[in-house]
Amino acid sequence: MHEGLRYERERTLPSGDDVSRAAEVLEGSDPEEILRWAVDAYGEGLTLSVSFGNPEGMVLLDMVSRVTDQVRVFSIDTGFLFDETVRFREEAMARYELPLDVVRTELSVEEQVERYGPQMYTCSPDLCCQVRKVAPQRKHLAKYEAWATGIRRDQTPQRADTPVVGWDEYFGVAKVSPLVGWNSEQIEEYAREHDVPMNPLLGMGYRSIGCEPQTRPVQEGEDARAGRWDGSEKTECGIHVANGKVGRA
Ligand code: SF4
Repeated sequence: MHEGLRYERERTLPSGDDVSRAAEVLEGSDPEEILRWAVDAYGEGLTLSVSFGNPEGMVLLDMVSRVTDQVRVFSIDTGFLFDETVRFREEAMARYELPLDVVRTELSVEEQVERYGPQMYTCSPDLCCQVRKVAPQRKHLAKYEAWATGIRRDQTPQRADTPVVGWDEYFGVAKVSPLVGWNSEQIEEYAREHDVPMNPLLGMGYRSIGCEPQTRPVQEGEDARAGRWDGSEKTECGIHVANGKVGRA
């Protein structure tokens, strides 16, 4: 723990200045150290986002489980997930035994199709992501002070300037990103070393897994996220926005 970054459990939550200072001090620190800071600063006010599709979320889940058993995990279920992802979610959480909240929109897929048309998720992906991912997450995070996520800076140009910890204006909570400085090799190495379970689709050519209608396996040499929203310019669902660079519907 860095000197001067500890907060009492009956805590005064970190102010905006505290968060900025922590971002500077923790830059370049080990992910475990960043996580320990977040757990200490926010306690049960911290929640961890895991998609159960990508290696980063699983690595972060494993790390969190070694630091605390108090942090609740949440996972957005759009209703368009692969069956493999839904099954894997249950299997993985049996191993980690952290409390899990599966977060869904109030609008069923059938109601969405009725309201917007059968191709809504391919012809208006920003709106579909907003309805099925972003809005439910915003509602869920209203109960928390901070969320942790496994994004890395080298995944997309929009993520390149993500701080270790920052204020997430849209969700109204702090956003902690312990893995921002890691690359995919470091993720793989940690997963191997700690025998972290992975979505079985990752062994079938998929390298970034989201909703089934808009995820395809990638070829050798292709970017890991090339299989997401293939054929459109969309690269982000809208949950991770850096400096307003990703539009929300
Ligand atoms: S990824 Fe596709 S199916 Fe999933 S919520 Fe976004 S637009 Fe809808």
